[in-house]
Amino acid sequence: MTVNLRHVRTLYNLYHGGKPLDYIFFDNSKWNPWIKYFYDLIFQIHFNHFLEFTVTFIQYYWIWPLAIQDIQTNGIYNLYWITLIFSYNLINVYIIYGLWHYFTYSIDDYHDAIKTLKDYKFNPINQYEGEEGKITLYREIFYTTLGVLHSAALQCLVLIGYTQGKIHFYEDFWTYPIFSIGGLMLMTYWRAVHFYLAHRVMHPYGWWSRRHSDLKGTIWPYLDLGQFLYTYVHSLHHKSYNPGPWSGLSMHWFEHFVYYSCAWLPLLYTSHPLHFLYAIVHCNISPLLGHDSYSISSNGFHWLHHHLFECNYGGRFFPVDSLMGTQIDYEDWIAAGKGSLKKTKIYLEEKAKLKVTAPNLSTEEQQRIARSKSLND
Ligand SMILES: [Zn+2]
Ligand SMILES: [Zn+2]
Repeated sequence: MTVNLRHVRTLYNLYHGGKPLDYIFFDNSKWNPWIKYFYDLIFQIHFNHFLEFTVTFIQYYWIWPLAIQDIQTNGIYNLYWITLIFSYNLINVYIIYGLWHYFTYSIDDYHDAIKTLKDYKFNPINQYEGEEGKITLYREIFYTTLGVLHSAALQCLVLIGYTQGKIHFYEDFWTYPIFSIGGLMLMTYWRAVHFYLAHRVMHPYGWWSRRHSDLKGTIWPYLDLGQFLYTYVHSLHHKSYNPGPWSGLSMHWFEHFVYYSCAWLPLLYTSHPLHFLYAIVHCNISPLLGHDSYSISSNGFHWLHHHLFECNYGGRFFPVDSLMGTQIDYEDWIAAGKGSLKKTKIYLEEKAKLKVTAPNLSTEEQQRIARSKSLND
């Protein structure tokens, strides 16, 4: 999920002393939960990616024709079309991530007008304050840039494949309307499954693993592939223990390679170029809100992954973690006393046996939990 109108309006409200907005067009929170779930699964999940669709369509209908024309006139070995693709990707990511960071973190370093925003932050400490905060921010921007360069390079290769007849595709979107629209929708679901798998392999698998201490140079990473990938690759992403907007794409180059492999799927069959392009733009932009650490943007699901590590490898909405037994909901973590993963799991076991009574939560926490249930990232 990424920034949409509701989030922008919510920020505006908070800046002016108002409340977060739970919906933008109509309130469906009172619907039958199953009807709401299927409505969200089939429709809302795509509306939530309006920004990705916009960036994709601008690129496909405006940037790509210029690039293709240049390839046809001057061949693939010239810098104009390559610069065009790289610039477009870098500019849209910098604008979107930069603006959201600016309005949620750096405007006057927590200016009075947005002090109220702190009430909605999962971890109230501003991780970007001070010298260490600056280093964190620059590191995240640097690795995000590497990710976008990877993404742009992949787009250039695929564009060469399309124009040189090496990758099969069909040109007219409306020749197969159901397949074309269904293919775009499929990318969102595929992204959820792919992200779970790509992420899960980078965490330790077995009980013998040493989890998250620095194990570089010891024998432990060689006893468990997940431990190895965590120690030498994914731990870079987890340096953002208290993540922010720029943390989402802040990954090791090998993790970028695995992460963006999601967009390879539509290249394996005769698809429309928009399917590939949407998948890769989705990869570029959608990690933003799940990492910004605000309950106005997300339900705390991925924030808890950064906080507790061994849970919530995928997204909250698509229930892969639930099926695999690795799901911890934010409200359960709160109810369990904001403790360790072990403590939360004990609470969940007791809850399952109906031995737990509802904890006494503050009004603010109850409101935060109610809001988190209405979101679906
Ligand atoms: Zn992780
Ligand atoms: Zn993350």
